[in-house]
Amino acid sequence: MGRYFETRIAMTSNVVVIDHPLVQHKLTHLRQKERSTNSFRRLLSEISMLLAYEVTRDLPLAYETIETPLATMRAPVLDGKKIVLINILRAGTGMVEGMLQILPSARVGHIGLYRDPRTLGAVEYYFKLPREMADRDVIVVDPMLATGNSAIAAVDRVRAATPRSVKFVCVLASPEGLANFHETHPQVSVYAAAVDERLDENGYIVPGLGDAGDRLFGTK
Ligand code: URA
Repeated sequence: MGRYFETRIAMTSNVVVIDHPLVQHKLTHLRQKERSTNSFRRLLSEISMLLAYEVTRDLPLAYETIETPLATMRAPVLDGKKIVLINILRAGTGMVEGMLQILPSARVGHIGLYRDPRTLGAVEYYFKLPREMADRDVIVVDPMLATGNSAIAAVDRVRAATPRSVKFVCVLASPEGLANFHETHPQVSVYAAAVDERLDENGYIVPGLGDAGDRLFGTK
């Protein structure tokens, strides 16, 4: 049932569910409430590394001439300026660390947003992007796309800097959050390891994995 739902979402909107068996296996472990902070952190990092691999699949390549020990050849390299990862604080930190393992030269920007517990709206408290964002490919990361309000606020700010492309990557998304996000940013693809059933009345994803920031930093 869950799998059918995810596939249907992936086919009908700008959402890519990364259903690679390794991602799905690690996600199951990540969700379990008895996971230690250490284990949660490691799993989130590993999942993020695998998500980064899929998200960068369509990056444009350019060709340059190189010398191997045997011959001269034209060989592919990533085209354009360095990728920028945008960390939505604080839980995005756990994803950036994993992604940097396969994108070690990426630049990193930070957006501090907290959820107003009454309105569930996103309130910005910090914003720092690398210089020269024009023509860069941006990957915005937050483990949970719940109401979609933080994702919308972050992508609003990033798009104002006119990068070449913007993608949003999360571990879990809610159907409500995806609909809300794509109402404002229909052209921004969302990559997720799973789309869960729903949001609860407090804006938490169900079944979800709880509060990603608290579990990542051991603050509860
Ligand atoms: N943020 C979280 O960390 N978890 C949720 O379920 C929703 C938002």
